[in-house]
Amino acid sequence: MPEFVEIEAYANTARPLIGGTITGIDLRDERLLRRAEEGFDAEASHVYGVMGGAEITDVSRIGKLLLIHLGSDHTVGLTFGLRGWLMLDGEAARADGTRRERSAKPEHIRLAIEVDGSRELILEDLLRLATLEIDPDTSNFGPDILDLDKDEFRELLAGSKATIKGLLMNQKHIAGIGNLIADEILFQGKVDPRRTASDITGSDLDTLWLGVRTTRDRVLDKNGSHQGVLIQSGSREKGEDCPRCDVEIERVKVGGRTTYFCPAHQT
Ligand SMILES: [Zn+2]
Repeated sequence: MPEFVEIEAYANTARPLIGGTITGIDLRDERLLRRAEEGFDAEASHVYGVMGGAEITDVSRIGKLLLIHLGSDHTVGLTFGLRGWLMLDGEAARADGTRRERSAKPEHIRLAIEVDGSRELILEDLLRLATLEIDPDTSNFGPDILDLDKDEFRELLAGSKATIKGLLMNQKHIAGIGNLIADEILFQGKVDPRRTASDITGSDLDTLWLGVRTTRDRVLDKNGSHQGVLIQSGSREKGEDCPRCDVEIERVKVGGRTTYFCPAHQT
């Protein structure tokens, strides 16, 4: 599943279009508009009306939502489900801004946006879980994981009776963390995912904050959320051992999500 780092890469993919004008829109899959209240036809004409001829003034990201800002003061919000991708002119960017060739399977293209008559931004989504929404509500997002600082983090924990894993994944508190990265943060931060957030204080909080920073830097450095120690070691599998402690990794459900942790060093 794309996490903040993948969406950051998609934002980089689209950023060369800033300053360009949208000259064509091809909405190939009405399920992209499933958030529309008025039905597909009304929403599709709204999308064409808002985007057609508009200048792209900025591209940003909050959590796992990509925002394309238009000169008309409207914003196009894209989410990517489990397997969505963005490509520009046959290339995809990485989180560090470098680019690589990547072509889309024509049958999996859900949206194509032509800019300045020659450039083409494509949304490919095998599983059809991506969404497009004009002017999405962003008021419910907490600070983005990349902008979060330690004081904000301490306050969030102090005010929450949720499990720490549940708090990390709640986009209203911190935007951008999914299941894999939450497990990695807790692995690095040496905290049992089932602990109550407000009980984590003092040196435990210091270590957990270090886990947030280490994980954040690591996935950005490696350009992907599949680069954590817990994931890369193969230990996020039933019956595997902790790469640090040689004890068996436990698998539990926390807040309805499958969670892997080491019972020896995550306490
Ligand atoms: Zn361990």
